[in-house]
Amino acid sequence: MQFFLIAGGFARCYEMTDLSSNKMYAVKVIPQSRVSKPHQREKITNEIELHRTLAHKHVVKFSHYFEDQENIYIFLELCSRKSLAHIWKARHTLTEPEVRYYLRQIISGLKYLHNRGILHRDLKLGNFFINENMDLRLGDFGLAAKLETVEQRKKTICGTPNYLAPEVLNRQGHGTESDVWSLGCVMYTLMCGSPPFETLDLKETYKCIKEVRYNLPSSLSPAAQKLISGILQKNPSDRLTLDQILNHEFFKGFTPDKLPPSSCVMVPELHPPSPAKKFFSKMAKSLFGKKKSKVEKIPCEEKEDRDISKLVSGIVKCSINRQISYKTVGPRLSSLPSNLTSTRRQEKLQ
Ligand code: ADP
Repeated sequence: MQFFLIAGGFARCYEMTDLSSNKMYAVKVIPQSRVSKPHQREKITNEIELHRTLAHKHVVKFSHYFEDQENIYIFLELCSRKSLAHIWKARHTLTEPEVRYYLRQIISGLKYLHNRGILHRDLKLGNFFINENMDLRLGDFGLAAKLETVEQRKKTICGTPNYLAPEVLNRQGHGTESDVWSLGCVMYTLMCGSPPFETLDLKETYKCIKEVRYNLPSSLSPAAQKLISGILQKNPSDRLTLDQILNHEFFKGFTPDKLPPSSCVMVPELHPPSPAKKFFSKMAKSLFGKKKSKVEKIPCEEKEDRDISKLVSGIVKCSINRQISYKTVGPRLSSLPSNLTSTRRQEKLQ
Protein backbone atom coordinates (compact mmCIF):
# COMPACT_ATOMS: atom_id res chain seq x y z
CA MET A 1 0.00 0.00 0.00
CA GLN A 2 1.10 3.54 -0.62
CA PHE A 3 -0.35 6.62 1.08
CA PHE A 4 -0.46 10.34 0.41
CA LEU A 5 -2.30 12.64 2.75
CA ILE A 6 -4.92 14.66 0.87
CA ALA A 7 -6.34 16.88 3.63
CA GLY A 8 -9.17 17.01 6.07
CA GLY A 9 -10.97 18.72 8.91
CA PHE A 10 -13.01 16.15 10.80
CA ALA A 11 -11.29 13.30 8.99
CA ARG A 12 -7.94 13.01 7.31
CA CYS A 13 -8.06 11.87 3.73
CA TYR A 14 -5.34 9.83 2.06
CA GLU A 15 -4.68 8.95 -1.53
CA MET A 16 -3.95 5.25 -1.36
CA THR A 17 -2.66 2.78 -3.92
CA ASP A 18 -3.15 -0.91 -3.42
CA LEU A 19 0.16 -2.08 -4.85
CA SER A 20 -1.13 -5.59 -5.55
CA SER A 21 -3.85 -4.35 -7.91
CA ASN A 22 -2.60 -0.81 -8.62
CA LYS A 23 -6.09 0.40 -7.67
CA MET A 24 -6.23 3.86 -6.18
CA TYR A 25 -8.61 5.06 -3.44
CA ALA A 26 -9.31 8.10 -1.36
CA VAL A 27 -9.31 6.86 2.23
CA LYS A 28 -11.01 8.85 4.94
CA VAL A 29 -9.39 8.13 8.29
CA ILE A 30 -11.44 9.12 11.32
CA PRO A 31 -9.75 8.80 14.72
CA GLN A 32 -11.86 6.82 17.20
CA SER A 33 -11.29 9.68 19.65
CA ARG A 34 -13.40 11.89 17.34
CA VAL A 35 -16.37 9.53 17.53
CA SER A 36 -16.29 8.64 21.22
CA LYS A 37 -19.58 10.39 22.01
CA PRO A 38 -22.79 8.57 20.93
CA HIS A 39 -24.00 11.40 18.68
CA GLN A 40 -20.61 11.54 16.90
CA ARG A 41 -20.63 7.78 16.41
CA GLU A 42 -24.21 7.97 15.11
CA LYS A 43 -23.21 10.61 12.57
CA ILE A 44 -20.42 8.53 11.07
CA THR A 45 -22.51 5.33 11.13
CA ASN A 46 -25.26 7.23 9.33
CA GLU A 47 -22.78 8.48 6.71
CA ILE A 48 -21.42 4.97 6.09
CA GLU A 49 -24.81 3.20 6.06
CA LEU A 50 -26.25 5.76 3.70
CA HIS A 51 -23.30 6.11 1.34
CA ARG A 52 -22.66 2.36 0.94
CA THR A 53 -26.13 1.85 -0.57
CA LEU A 54 -25.54 4.41 -3.33
CA ALA A 55 -24.51 3.57 -6.89
CA HIS A 56 -24.70 6.27 -9.53
CA LYS A 57 -22.28 7.68 -12.08
CA HIS A 58 -22.40 11.11 -10.47
CA VAL A 59 -22.00 9.97 -6.86
CA VAL A 60 -18.58 9.16 -5.32
CA LYS A 61 -18.34 5.36 -5.18
CA PHE A 62 -18.15 3.82 -1.73
CA SER A 63 -15.79 0.86 -1.84
CA HIS A 64 -15.54 -0.58 1.71
CA TYR A 65 -14.65 0.31 5.27
CA PHE A 66 -13.19 -1.18 8.41
CA GLU A 67 -12.03 -0.02 11.80
CA ASP A 68 -9.35 -0.83 14.34
CA GLN A 69 -8.73 0.49 17.83
CA GLU A 70 -7.36 3.79 16.57
CA ASN A 71 -9.35 4.73 13.50
CA ILE A 72 -12.25 4.14 11.14
CA TYR A 73 -11.13 3.77 7.50
CA ILE A 74 -13.52 4.54 4.66
CA PHE A 75 -12.33 3.61 1.16
CA LEU A 76 -13.81 5.77 -1.58
CA GLU A 77 -13.37 6.23 -5.30
CA LEU A 78 -10.44 8.61 -5.77
CA CYS A 79 -11.30 11.90 -7.44
CA SER A 80 -7.83 12.99 -8.46
CA ARG A 81 -8.77 16.50 -9.60
CA LYS A 82 -10.18 17.25 -6.17
CA SER A 83 -13.30 19.40 -6.15
CA LEU A 84 -15.12 22.33 -7.73
CA ALA A 85 -13.90 24.39 -4.76
CA HIS A 86 -10.33 23.92 -5.98
CA ILE A 87 -11.29 24.80 -9.56
CA TRP A 88 -13.20 27.85 -8.35
CA LYS A 89 -10.20 28.99 -6.28
CA ALA A 90 -8.02 28.90 -9.39
CA ARG A 91 -10.58 30.30 -11.82
CA HIS A 92 -12.94 32.46 -9.72
CA THR A 93 -15.62 32.42 -12.41
CA LEU A 94 -16.52 29.80 -14.98
CA THR A 95 -18.04 30.24 -18.43
CA GLU A 96 -21.72 29.41 -19.00
CA PRO A 97 -20.98 26.22 -21.00
CA GLU A 98 -18.79 24.98 -18.13
CA VAL A 99 -21.49 25.81 -15.58
CA ARG A 100 -24.01 23.86 -17.67
CA TYR A 101 -21.55 20.94 -17.88
CA TYR A 102 -21.13 20.73 -14.09
CA LEU A 103 -24.75 21.54 -13.20
CA ARG A 104 -26.13 18.80 -15.46
CA GLN A 105 -23.98 16.26 -13.62
CA ILE A 106 -24.84 17.65 -10.17
CA ILE A 107 -28.55 17.55 -11.03
CA SER A 108 -28.25 14.00 -12.34
CA GLY A 109 -26.67 12.88 -9.04
CA LEU A 110 -29.10 14.92 -6.97
CA LYS A 111 -32.15 13.52 -8.79
CA TYR A 112 -30.88 10.04 -8.00
CA LEU A 113 -30.62 10.93 -4.29
CA HIS A 114 -34.00 12.66 -4.14
CA ASN A 115 -35.69 9.77 -5.98
CA ARG A 116 -34.37 7.49 -3.25
CA GLY A 117 -35.72 9.83 -0.58
CA ILE A 118 -32.30 11.14 0.43
CA LEU A 119 -31.43 14.79 1.08
CA HIS A 120 -27.79 15.81 0.80
CA ARG A 121 -28.14 18.90 3.03
CA ASP A 122 -24.60 20.16 2.45
CA LEU A 123 -24.34 20.95 -1.23
CA LYS A 124 -21.30 23.16 -1.74
CA LEU A 125 -18.38 23.44 -4.14
CA GLY A 126 -16.10 21.36 -1.89
CA ASN A 127 -18.50 18.42 -2.03
CA PHE A 128 -18.53 18.18 -5.83
CA PHE A 129 -15.54 15.98 -6.55
CA ILE A 130 -13.85 15.78 -9.96
CA ASN A 131 -12.15 12.63 -11.17
CA GLU A 132 -9.21 12.21 -13.55
CA ASN A 133 -11.61 12.19 -16.49
CA MET A 134 -13.21 15.52 -15.46
CA ASP A 135 -16.44 13.78 -14.44
CA LEU A 136 -18.23 15.21 -11.43
CA ARG A 137 -19.17 13.08 -8.41
CA LEU A 138 -21.36 14.18 -5.52
CA GLY A 139 -19.74 13.30 -2.21
CA ASP A 140 -19.55 13.79 1.56
CA PHE A 141 -22.72 12.35 3.04
CA GLY A 142 -21.90 13.47 6.56
CA LEU A 143 -25.07 15.57 6.81
CA ALA A 144 -27.27 13.57 4.46
CA ALA A 145 -30.61 12.30 5.76
CA LYS A 146 -33.65 10.37 4.69
CA LEU A 147 -36.50 12.61 3.57
CA GLU A 148 -39.23 12.90 6.19
CA THR A 149 -42.70 14.40 6.17
CA VAL A 150 -42.92 18.12 6.95
CA GLU A 151 -44.00 17.32 10.52
CA GLN A 152 -41.23 14.78 11.09
CA ARG A 153 -38.45 16.96 9.69
CA LYS A 154 -35.61 17.76 12.05
CA LYS A 155 -35.51 21.44 12.72
CA THR A 156 -31.77 21.58 13.36
CA ILE A 157 -29.68 23.93 11.29
CA CYS A 158 -27.02 22.14 9.32
CA GLY A 159 -25.12 22.86 6.15
CA THR A 160 -22.83 25.61 4.97
CA PRO A 161 -23.94 29.03 6.29
CA ASN A 162 -23.84 30.85 2.95
CA TYR A 163 -25.89 28.18 1.20
CA LEU A 164 -28.57 27.61 3.85
CA ALA A 165 -32.13 28.02 2.59
CA PRO A 166 -34.51 30.50 4.33
CA GLU A 167 -36.78 27.67 5.60
CA VAL A 168 -33.77 25.90 7.16
CA LEU A 169 -32.74 29.14 8.90
CA ASN A 170 -36.31 29.61 10.06
CA ARG A 171 -36.23 26.08 11.50
CA GLN A 172 -39.01 24.82 9.29
CA GLY A 173 -36.98 21.78 8.29
CA HIS A 174 -35.01 20.72 5.21
CA GLY A 175 -36.79 19.36 2.12
CA THR A 176 -35.65 18.57 -1.42
CA GLU A 177 -36.33 22.23 -2.25
CA SER A 178 -33.68 23.25 0.29
CA ASP A 179 -31.09 21.24 -1.68
CA VAL A 180 -32.33 23.06 -4.80
CA TRP A 181 -31.75 26.40 -3.05
CA SER A 182 -28.12 25.40 -2.31
CA LEU A 183 -27.77 24.40 -5.97
CA GLY A 184 -28.87 27.94 -6.93
CA CYS A 185 -26.21 29.34 -4.60
CA VAL A 186 -23.61 27.07 -6.21
CA MET A 187 -24.63 28.23 -9.68
CA TYR A 188 -24.44 31.88 -8.60
CA THR A 189 -21.00 31.39 -7.01
CA LEU A 190 -19.58 29.71 -10.11
CA MET A 191 -20.90 32.45 -12.39
CA CYS A 192 -20.38 35.54 -10.23
CA GLY A 193 -17.24 34.62 -8.28
CA SER A 194 -18.71 34.83 -4.76
CA PRO A 195 -21.75 33.41 -2.95
CA PRO A 196 -25.00 35.37 -3.36
CA PHE A 197 -25.50 36.22 0.33
CA GLU A 198 -21.89 36.65 1.40
CA THR A 199 -21.28 39.52 3.80
CA LEU A 200 -18.58 40.20 6.42
CA ASP A 201 -21.02 39.38 9.21
CA LEU A 202 -22.81 36.04 9.59
CA LYS A 203 -25.89 37.66 11.14
CA GLU A 204 -26.16 39.99 8.16
CA THR A 205 -25.76 37.01 5.79
CA TYR A 206 -28.65 35.23 7.54
CA LYS A 207 -30.74 38.39 7.25
CA CYS A 208 -30.00 38.65 3.52
CA ILE A 209 -30.94 34.97 3.08
CA LYS A 210 -34.22 35.37 4.94
CA GLU A 211 -35.07 38.44 2.85
CA VAL A 212 -33.61 36.90 -0.33
CA ARG A 213 -31.51 40.03 -0.81
CA TYR A 214 -28.72 39.60 -3.38
CA ASN A 215 -27.35 41.28 -6.53
CA LEU A 216 -27.63 39.82 -9.98
CA PRO A 217 -24.70 41.20 -12.05
CA SER A 218 -25.72 42.45 -15.47
CA SER A 219 -22.73 40.57 -16.90
CA LEU A 220 -24.79 37.36 -16.60
CA SER A 221 -26.88 36.38 -19.61
CA PRO A 222 -30.62 37.06 -19.25
CA ALA A 223 -31.28 33.29 -19.20
CA ALA A 224 -28.79 32.75 -16.36
CA GLN A 225 -30.34 35.65 -14.40
CA LYS A 226 -33.83 34.21 -14.87
CA LEU A 227 -32.74 30.75 -13.80
CA ILE A 228 -31.00 31.97 -10.65
CA SER A 229 -33.99 34.04 -9.61
CA GLY A 230 -36.31 31.09 -10.35
CA ILE A 231 -34.26 28.97 -7.94
CA LEU A 232 -33.65 31.53 -5.21
CA GLN A 233 -37.30 31.86 -4.24
CA LYS A 234 -38.11 32.33 -0.57
CA ASN A 235 -41.09 30.01 -0.60
CA PRO A 236 -39.89 26.41 -1.28
CA SER A 237 -43.02 25.63 -3.30
CA ASP A 238 -42.29 28.58 -5.64
CA ARG A 239 -38.78 27.29 -6.38
CA LEU A 240 -38.04 25.58 -9.68
CA THR A 241 -37.78 21.79 -9.48
CA LEU A 242 -34.74 19.91 -10.78
CA ASP A 243 -36.63 18.96 -13.97
CA GLN A 244 -37.78 22.53 -14.51
CA ILE A 245 -34.17 23.66 -14.11
CA LEU A 246 -33.00 21.20 -16.77
CA ASN A 247 -35.75 22.37 -19.12
CA HIS A 248 -34.98 26.04 -18.51
CA GLU A 249 -33.84 28.17 -21.47
CA PHE A 250 -30.41 28.51 -19.81
CA PHE A 251 -29.83 24.85 -20.65
CA LYS A 252 -30.70 25.38 -24.32
CA GLY A 253 -27.21 26.85 -24.67
CA PHE A 254 -24.21 24.75 -25.68
CA THR A 255 -23.01 22.18 -23.13
CA PRO A 256 -19.66 20.50 -23.90
CA ASP A 257 -19.57 16.69 -23.77
CA LYS A 258 -16.24 16.89 -21.98
CA LEU A 259 -14.05 19.58 -20.45
CA PRO A 260 -10.29 19.56 -20.91
CA PRO A 261 -8.25 19.12 -17.69
CA SER A 262 -6.66 22.50 -18.41
CA SER A 263 -10.03 24.09 -17.53
CA CYS A 264 -9.20 23.39 -13.85
CA VAL A 265 -6.82 26.33 -14.02
CA MET A 266 -7.66 28.38 -17.13
CA VAL A 267 -10.55 29.36 -19.38
CA PRO A 268 -11.04 26.57 -21.91
CA GLU A 269 -11.48 27.20 -25.59
CA LEU A 270 -14.76 25.48 -26.31
CA HIS A 271 -16.23 25.20 -29.77
CA PRO A 272 -19.91 24.34 -30.16
CA PRO A 273 -20.13 21.75 -32.95
CA SER A 274 -21.24 23.13 -36.30
CA PRO A 275 -24.61 21.82 -37.60
CA ALA A 276 -22.72 19.82 -40.26
CA LYS A 277 -20.45 18.18 -37.68
CA LYS A 278 -23.47 17.40 -35.49
CA PHE A 279 -25.17 15.76 -38.47
CA PHE A 280 -22.14 13.63 -39.36
CA SER A 281 -21.46 12.51 -35.81
CA LYS A 282 -25.15 11.56 -35.44
CA MET A 283 -24.86 9.57 -38.70
CA ALA A 284 -21.63 7.93 -37.53
CA LYS A 285 -23.24 7.01 -34.22
CA SER A 286 -26.26 5.42 -35.88
CA LEU A 287 -24.05 3.57 -38.38
CA PHE A 288 -21.21 2.43 -36.11
CA GLY A 289 -22.74 2.50 -32.65
CA LYS A 290 -21.95 4.83 -29.78
CA LYS A 291 -18.31 3.88 -29.29
CA LYS A 292 -16.01 6.70 -30.39
CA SER A 293 -13.74 5.64 -33.20
CA LYS A 294 -10.14 6.78 -33.06
CA VAL A 295 -10.40 8.73 -36.32
CA GLU A 296 -13.07 10.94 -34.78
CA LYS A 297 -10.40 12.85 -32.91
CA ILE A 298 -7.56 14.62 -34.65
CA PRO A 299 -4.37 12.98 -33.30
CA CYS A 300 -2.60 16.26 -32.57
CA GLU A 301 -5.64 17.49 -30.61
CA GLU A 302 -5.52 14.31 -28.57
CA LYS A 303 -1.81 14.76 -27.90
CA GLU A 304 -2.40 18.38 -26.88
CA ASP A 305 -5.07 17.25 -24.39
CA ARG A 306 -2.67 14.73 -22.92
CA ASP A 307 0.12 17.30 -22.68
CA ILE A 308 -2.18 19.79 -20.96
CA SER A 309 -3.33 17.03 -18.63
CA LYS A 310 0.32 16.38 -17.68
CA LEU A 311 0.87 20.09 -17.23
CA VAL A 312 -2.13 20.37 -14.91
CA SER A 313 -1.05 17.36 -12.83
CA GLY A 314 2.38 19.00 -12.71
CA ILE A 315 0.88 22.21 -11.38
CA VAL A 316 -1.09 20.29 -8.76
CA LYS A 317 2.02 18.34 -7.72
CA CYS A 318 4.08 21.55 -7.46
CA SER A 319 1.49 23.08 -5.18
CA ILE A 320 1.52 19.93 -3.05
CA ASN A 321 5.27 20.12 -2.67
CA ARG A 322 5.19 23.78 -1.88
CA GLN A 323 2.59 23.25 0.83
CA ILE A 324 4.49 20.39 2.33
CA SER A 325 7.48 22.57 3.01
CA TYR A 326 5.61 24.61 5.57
CA LYS A 327 2.68 22.43 6.62
CA THR A 328 3.75 19.90 9.16
CA VAL A 329 0.36 18.67 10.33
CA GLY A 330 -0.52 15.18 9.29
CA PRO A 331 -0.39 11.80 10.89
CA ARG A 332 2.85 10.26 12.00
CA LEU A 333 3.69 7.09 10.17
CA SER A 334 3.16 5.12 13.33
CA SER A 335 -0.45 6.26 13.51
CA LEU A 336 -1.25 4.49 10.28
CA PRO A 337 -2.83 1.07 10.58
CA SER A 338 -0.27 -1.66 11.12
CA ASN A 339 -2.00 -3.92 8.62
CA LEU A 340 -1.37 -1.36 5.86
CA THR A 341 2.33 -1.23 5.15
CA SER A 342 4.85 0.84 3.21
CA THR A 343 4.07 4.47 3.87
CA ARG A 344 6.58 6.28 1.76
CA ARG A 345 5.53 9.89 1.62
CA GLN A 346 2.87 12.15 3.03
CA GLU A 347 1.58 15.11 1.12
CA LYS A 348 -1.02 17.64 2.03
CA LEU A 349 -3.25 19.18 -0.59
CA GLN A 350 -5.61 22.12 -0.43
P1 ADP B 1 -13.98 18.03 5.12
O1 ADP B 1 -15.47 17.82 5.12
O2 ADP B 1 -13.41 18.37 6.43
O3 ADP B 1 -13.46 18.84 3.98
P2 ADP B 1 -13.57 15.43 3.95
O4 ADP B 1 -13.29 14.27 4.79
O5 ADP B 1 -14.85 15.45 3.19
O6 ADP B 1 -13.36 16.62 4.94
O7 ADP B 1 -12.41 15.66 2.92
C1 ADP B 1 -11.10 15.97 3.32
C2 ADP B 1 -10.27 16.28 2.09
O8 ADP B 1 -10.17 15.14 1.29
C3 ADP B 1 -10.84 17.40 1.23
O9 ADP B 1 -9.78 18.21 0.78
C4 ADP B 1 -11.44 16.68 0.06
O10 ADP B 1 -11.33 17.46 -1.12
C5 ADP B 1 -10.60 15.40 -0.02
N1 ADP B 1 -11.42 14.27 -0.46
C6 ADP B 1 -12.50 13.73 0.16
N2 ADP B 1 -13.02 12.72 -0.55
C7 ADP B 1 -12.25 12.61 -1.66
C8 ADP B 1 -12.26 11.74 -2.82
N3 ADP B 1 -13.18 10.79 -2.96
N4 ADP B 1 -11.31 11.92 -3.75
C9 ADP B 1 -10.37 12.89 -3.60
N5 ADP B 1 -10.29 13.73 -2.57
C10 ADP B 1 -11.22 13.60 -1.60
